[in-house]
Amino acid sequence: MSGEAQSPPHFTTAFLAKLGAEAETRGVSRATFERATAGLAADPEILALANAQPEHVRPVGQYVGQLVSEERIAEGRARLAELAGLLDRIERAFGVERHILVAIWGIESGYGAAQGVRDVIRSLATLAAGDRRRPAFWRSELLAALAIIERGGPAGDRMSGSWAGAMGHTQFMPSTHLAHAVDFDGDGRIDLWGSAADALASTANYLKASGWRTAVPWGLEVTLPAGFAYGLAAPGRGRSVAAWRALGVARPEDRPWPGTEADFDLFLPAGWRGPAFLVSGNFAALLRYNPASAYALAVGHLADRLAGGPPVAGQWPEAERALAAEEREELQRRLVARGLDTGGVDGILGVQSRAAIRAYQRGAGLPEDGHPSEELLQRLRREGGG
Ligand code: CA
Repeated sequence: MSGEAQSPPHFTTAFLAKLGAEAETRGVSRATFERATAGLAADPEILALANAQPEHVRPVGQYVGQLVSEERIAEGRARLAELAGLLDRIERAFGVERHILVAIWGIESGYGAAQGVRDVIRSLATLAAGDRRRPAFWRSELLAALAIIERGGPAGDRMSGSWAGAMGHTQFMPSTHLAHAVDFDGDGRIDLWGSAADALASTANYLKASGWRTAVPWGLEVTLPAGFAYGLAAPGRGRSVAAWRALGVARPEDRPWPGTEADFDLFLPAGWRGPAFLVSGNFAALLRYNPASAYALAVGHLADRLAGGPPVAGQWPEAERALAAEEREELQRRLVARGLDTGGVDGILGVQSRAAIRAYQRGAGLPEDGHPSEELLQRLRREGGG
């Protein structure tokens, strides 16, 4: 191998020409585009990282435990005390509670300490040119990132972020930055990297736009009675607290019920054997931030801990192992072979795939929790077919 062959591949002239033309239609000047893409080379590590997102491979209990560490709780409480005045003003302006904002901040960047050091333009260009699953999504984020630079961008030469282009204290994607970021420290410019005030207020603004309701709990841990109809945990089965209580749903350790008129879905993150939660529309707002339910659960739980709440009372199943991407696809294939609609065989277990699992469980007389367990996959293999 020559030294030349080992250097990172540059983007093709055709790729850059087409990108430049698209950027121009979005108001990005030629000068900005050329400055942002001068000497740009693909980052060979990025595509590997794109296929290893932790919330999809670690069991949910382990994931939540790692994200909601004692250290992160202690540091978050210190930030709540330090920034009490700022957080008062943000709550008044946007109606989003401080504990959820500080929890997002802690999980996204360790309260600003780990904002990501990769060049966002380079990362997104690599993904737009090389990722087979979502090239259009990455391209659109890349164009948004160029538009941010056109508007003045961050201080300094390069816009930094995670491998996926998430930026600043609360890891906004470029399109979210364009749509929802605000200047809150009053210096006349939006700076999600250098200003925690701008980043936290922008996060509140984004959650508000995602339907956040003030004074409604994101979720409540609950216990379920023996013989519970787990099929009620399907999304879109929202009920009031009173209606869930009438079905025998209780709170662990006699924790109090909050007074709220909101509807809640029942959510079983690790299936019927694990902890159970009632989740509100605010949980759905957190999913707009990051569509992984384990992420939303970790943020909500950290917020509760920051507010002085207790650890999760239910036991996470010990033997539980999250299915790998190829196993998730195999599960879908085997369900499809039984005439069930999983909404595609793509390894993404969304609402339709979980409904297909429930339908299978119903037919087999199993607890209908829609949970994609290893046990379920093994059962389908034993039965054969598909
Ligand atoms: Ca500012």
